Amino acid sequence: MNETDVVIIGAGHNGLTCAAYLARAGLRVRVVDRRKVVGGAAVTEEFYPGFRNSVAAYTVSLLNPRIIADLKLADHGLKIVERRAQNFLPSPDGSYLLTGEGRTADSVAKLSAHDAEAIEGFSRELEAIADVLRQFVLRAPPNLVEGFSATAIREAFNALGTANILRGLSLEQSRNLLDLFTRSAGEMLDERFENDLVKALFGFDAIVGNYASPYAAGSAYVMLHHAFGEVNGKKGVWGHAIGGMGAITQAMARVAREAGADIRLDAGIREVIVEKDRAVGVVLDSGETIRAKYVAASVNPKLLYTRLMPSGALAPEFLARMNRWRNGSGTFRMNVALSALPSFTALPGEGDHLTAGIILAPSLGYMDRAWQDAREHGWSRAPVVEVLIPSTLDETLAPEGQHVASLFCQHVAPELPDGKSWDDHREEVADLMIATVDAFAPGFGKSVLGRQILSPLDLERQFGLLGGDIFHGALTLNQLFSARPMLGHADYRGPLRGLYHCGSGAHPGGGVTGAPGHNAAQAILADHRALFASR
Ligand SMILES: Cc1cc2nc3c(=O)[nH]c(=O)nc-3n(C[C@H](O)[C@H](O)[C@H](O)COP(=O)(O)OP(=O)(O)OC[C@H]3O[C@@H](n4cnc5c(N)ncnc54)[C@H](O)[C@@H]3O)c2cc1C
Repeated sequence: MNETDVVIIGAGHNGLTCAAYLARAGLRVRVVDRRKVVGGAAVTEEFYPGFRNSVAAYTVSLLNPRIIADLKLADHGLKIVERRAQNFLPSPDGSYLLTGEGRTADSVAKLSAHDAEAIEGFSRELEAIADVLRQFVLRAPPNLVEGFSATAIREAFNALGTANILRGLSLEQSRNLLDLFTRSAGEMLDERFENDLVKALFGFDAIVGNYASPYAAGSAYVMLHHAFGEVNGKKGVWGHAIGGMGAITQAMARVAREAGADIRLDAGIREVIVEKDRAVGVVLDSGETIRAKYVAASVNPKLLYTRLMPSGALAPEFLARMNRWRNGSGTFRMNVALSALPSFTALPGEGDHLTAGIILAPSLGYMDRAWQDAREHGWSRAPVVEVLIPSTLDETLAPEGQHVASLFCQHVAPELPDGKSWDDHREEVADLMIATVDAFAPGFGKSVLGRQILSPLDLERQFGLLGGDIFHGALTLNQLFSARPMLGHADYRGPLRGLYHCGSGAHPGGGVTGAPGHNAAQAILADHRALFASR
């Protein structure tokens, strides 16, 4: 019979995480995805004959260690390695910054004695705040509820628990936290540092997936969001999953299937079935229906509510607000097959710097201009590019002696001005991105054997990422924590009974964390137990 306990829309890493926890708890789970492979934005594909790469998400840090341990992902094939250097920022004037364990202090000192002193304090400040905020990652934020009920009591306790965690911050740290949530990264960095590359190191994290200037209020939070992570117990470090990001989701799918979950691919959802104000299943594109006690959606909330719900199922004010959900990361993603490693003018030849996230954006001013240019022109003519060459750490991705690189490029407008289409400009913008890398590493362009291009429109069409938004919705204060995806629905429960959010549009937001999937599974299990207890 086409009937189950839980149907999960989307087999991205959060859908799979949610499925694994629920199936392990004994529920019958079905996951359905419109793509032919599991993984959503965390996937490895052959993009050019003989060359494989993480096609969208490309680097690991945010994946929650408890989820790795609970799901025994390492036993299911996941191996994460550290980069040998964390970040490399070359400047057109020939100077560079190279960070990582045992490297940062010396490298910064060569650029600025002042910054060498300041960076330690700032890193400690960020780390202390990240440590406290990490405690919020695997718990639902306090949810706003009206009236007096059992739910209101539960949320009052949740708010108390939240306040208790925040008490872990000193008064000065609380002030810093307020700054980080509300101010611009640019202002905060200008106050602390003098060297452009040092500011750019942190400033880049403030604009990753964030279509904004580093001087935009709120950009400091995006910087903090990227500091939550760790690799193999080392906090704040970024690494690489052997086999690419798809290795994470392949391991998750194995765990979910072993626990009994059924994962169906090439099976898009056309509509959620709603009966008497309750979500009771889904209709596939094929017309087939699956009925379920619980429907959990890991897709962008705006996609769920504006495209997959029957008309009249939602309150008009809810729908109007969801229509205003802000999407659009301003990113353009390329994968390139390389005949040889690049050689950077600022640090020629091979070395550990080629295992790092190579940030081509030498100052905050450069990033600010990139955003302004994209606003006016549709894309920045001097774009920000992060180059990552995972084949320097992983020989499974490219033929021997050859390499693959991820180019994560910003800023581009999610939608081009004057009615222009990304389909008419993607090749031209791809050429620009290659030329930008070539300017820092002459000969790079000639080494490109093949390329895959993902404009914001391609990201939307291929992965269901509306406006190409890599986080399923901007990480702005009005779309974060208790307001993600909307005040009143921060507890992973949607506006209809039986409907849940388990994707990046729920707290704690985007990135390959597994946290929304984990937290939604806890909400579903709590409701399931309550249902049984009441019988
Ligand atoms: C270009 C890019 C670079 C990124 N880089 C990084 C990075 O380096 N590190 C990092 O941690 N994060 C990164 N991110 C962010 C991260 O990848 C995402 O936030 C995360 O993968 C989202 O996971 P999810 O499971 O919530 O949703 P998704 O991965 O988006 O999964 C949702 C799934 O729903 C499916 N779906 C959509 N519509 C339907 C439908 N109608 N019926 C059935 N299924 C449907 C989709 O096919 C998809 O598989 C990046 C994202 C992008 C796009």
